[in-house]
Amino acid sequence: MDLRDTPGEAKLRDEIRGWLETNYSPGMSQSDWYEVLADSGWAAPLWPEQYGGRGASASEAIIFNQERQNIGAEPPPTGIGVPMAGPTIIAHGTEEQKERFLGPMLRGEEVWCQLFSEPGAGSDLAAIQTRAVLDGETWSVTGQKVWTTHAQLSRWGILMARHDPSLPKHAGITYFICDMQAEGVEIVPLKEMTGEAVFNEVFLTDVQIPDDLRVGQVGEGWKVSMTTLANERMALGVGGLGSTDEDIEVGLEEADAESSLETMGKFIRRGPRALIELAERAGAINDPLIRDDLARAYTMYEVSRFTGYRVTTALMKGRGPGVEASTGKLSYNLLVRAVADLMIKIAGIGALGAPEDDKLLKVAERLNLVVPATSIYGGTDQIQRNIISERVLGMPKEPRTDAEQPFSEIKKGG
Ligand SMILES: Cc1cc2nc3c(=O)[nH]c(=O)nc-3n(C[C@H](O)[C@H](O)[C@H](O)COP(=O)(O)OP(=O)(O)OC[C@H]3O[C@@H](n4cnc5c(N)ncnc54)[C@H](O)[C@@H]3O)c2cc1C
Repeated sequence: MDLRDTPGEAKLRDEIRGWLETNYSPGMSQSDWYEVLADSGWAAPLWPEQYGGRGASASEAIIFNQERQNIGAEPPPTGIGVPMAGPTIIAHGTEEQKERFLGPMLRGEEVWCQLFSEPGAGSDLAAIQTRAVLDGETWSVTGQKVWTTHAQLSRWGILMARHDPSLPKHAGITYFICDMQAEGVEIVPLKEMTGEAVFNEVFLTDVQIPDDLRVGQVGEGWKVSMTTLANERMALGVGGLGSTDEDIEVGLEEADAESSLETMGKFIRRGPRALIELAERAGAINDPLIRDDLARAYTMYEVSRFTGYRVTTALMKGRGPGVEASTGKLSYNLLVRAVADLMIKIAGIGALGAPEDDKLLKVAERLNLVVPATSIYGGTDQIQRNIISERVLGMPKEPRTDAEQPFSEIKKGG
């Protein structure tokens, strides 16, 4: 792990600072800023130049991200479009698809969602049952998706569907772009315990998808989806863990009762100071059991911070997010859950239903409502442990009994 800039990186950092000073001003509208980012290639620095990116390395993207955060500029259009759908279309899509979809995606004009998970297919994604049947030049798609973040805001979705159940599970999948405004797409918001509805169930009933919205060859859906998921891991590494210490400092100032997972992440990365403040306020700072918990939380914070630096270093050295991404995500998840639990332990039940004017208690409440998600999205804690056990500890692979069988003959779970 080496946290210092090389001479080349230091020079690039200076150039990026200069560019940001010239091109960003705090009063700018979001659409103007998106336009500037798209025109300069900084909306998607990792994309090739011909498709609107800069062909930059992960190291350049991380430096841009850090400097952008330092001046308080908004990130490029968020969601799954630029980080996940775009690279997949670039790698496997047709020239017509690239021409049609990449520009509006870069400028944030069209929002995208990910139609992968189903009630019986999450960790075991290849178990999807949504069916796609080809009739002439059009596919008819029927099935149910779940957990679809921002489906209600999306113009397009990336979709995995099963075109041939007689093939083994990974071989019978094809990948599509789904028009979220098409007839037969029904979006049902799922209310979360925060009171918001970020996720949705998406019911697809005979949705007509023209064959020219297929991405990759028929039967290559699994391979194409691996590009999407590899880019998700890359985005988690570049976007999340590339944060700077200055960014962490502003954590508590920005966090509030409406905070997103990202803002909560900044608050958590601020370290144990909020916990100590809470313990002092509650008169618990000299309680030996609380002190023991605080010491444990501090240790977990440091483990998570340095594991995060390892991911950043791996990305900056061009190694891609390997198993470091699993250790990084797992140690972060364990930390956030421990901090959320400890805040409630210190503050007591008063933190649930905390008064509006008590910011620290409100944050404790909010944290407890949002943290369960971190252990699930992008691969659950158990799946990260499986990866670590197989790829770091060299333990035997999980036995798989259904990889070669026709999908139609496999007993289905949920
Ligand atoms: C915040 C958030 C946003 C999301 N957004 C989207 C989205 O936009 N689009 C989308 O398609 N999906 C999305 N998801 C879904 C997410 O990808 C799945 O929830 C995740 O893959 C887990 O799948 P599952 O919920 O079906 O749980 P399951 O896979 O059914 O797992 C249930 C439990 O069994 C454990 N388990 C499963 N398999 C194993 C195994 N082999 N070994 C040990 N334990 C195992 C799991 O760890 C878990 O504890 C989102 C999820 C969250 C939390």
